[in-house]
Order: sequence, then structure tokens, then C-alpha cells
Amino acid sequence: MPATRFICLSGHEVNINQCLKKCIHTQRCMFLPTLRAVANSLNRKLQNATVTELLAGTMETFLKKTTDYAVDPINQMYALHGSAVHTLNENYTEGNMLSEERLHDEITSGKFDLFGQILDKEDNTLGDYKITSSYKLMKALGYYKIDVPTGEVYKTGIKKVNQKPKKNGELMELNMF
Ligand code: SF4
Repeated sequence: MPATRFICLSGHEVNINQCLKKCIHTQRCMFLPTLRAVANSLNRKLQNATVTELLAGTMETFLKKTTDYAVDPINQMYALHGSAVHTLNENYTEGNMLSEERLHDEITSGKFDLFGQILDKEDNTLGDYKITSSYKLMKALGYYKIDVPTGEVYKTGIKKVNQKPKKNGELMELNMF
């Protein structure tokens, strides 16, 4: 079953259709078109489990398929952002490229983002878009910021007379063991 309710900032739950007609609070938490887009993204009608759903916990996927549930629309923004990037790129593929094709077998289905001559004319490449934060990417690549001494000390508070460091502006390479 799909998500049927939004969770408002106040913690109240509201039927999604009711929210789209009229906010139950004095002011909407998000723009109406954005809420409509979130509602549309939740309205999936695939019967069998998808490969993406199989990656989630079995109980989570089972409950999402068998019960209705509520979501905080703000928490859906990352997923919506990812979908929007897929749609944008989909409009710029050409003859020797496939985009957003769903493949089915008797158990499951999965959709690939891109396939074909997406890098050069010689090879067929499978492409997969990933949306992440620059911070997560930085950590995955083994970079981090370090404290460097400034020669100054804290003048007040519990750190008084302690050295006052600052984060360096350069990313330092992490030693991997
Ligand atoms: S717009 Fe936001 S605050 Fe208003 S009813 Fe919908 S989810 Fe709740």
C-alpha cells in the first residue's frame, strides 16, 4: 500500500488528499507544487518487489506493501531531488542510448538509469546516477579537515587559556591503513 498520510511539522498526521486541498494549519510547510510532486512520487503501483525494495529490510518492505503509512514530506526531498535529476538526463539521450528502462522477470524488476554509448562511441556503458552530499563524498574519498594552531588562546569560557585552533581551509588526505 502506498503512503496515505503526511506528517506535519507539528507532528499531526493528515490525509495526503486533504493536505493537497487545504492545509490543516495556518501555513503550508512547503510549496503546494512540491507537495504534489512528493505525493506523486509516493504513488507507485508496482506489484512485485523491485530490486531497490529488495535492498531494504524484509520487514520494512513487507509493511510498506501491506499497510498504509505516513511520511514526513520534507524527508522525501532527497528522493525527489534524485528523481528530478533522472528526468532531466532522460531528456538528453539519443538513438544509441537507453534511459530509465525497467526490466522484469517473474520475481522482481529493476530499472537502469542509462545504457549505451554514454561515454564514447566504442563501448556500451551502464550508467547509474548517484546523488550525495559533498561532505559524504569527501569522507568516502578519505579527506577531512584538521585543526591547525592559530597562536591565539580562548579569553573566556570553559576553554579559557586553551589554544584556539581553526579548521584549515584545505582538505587533508587521510592516511588509510
Ligand atoms: S501543508 Fe504541511 S503542514 Fe499543511 S497539512 Fe500539509 S503536511 Fe501538514
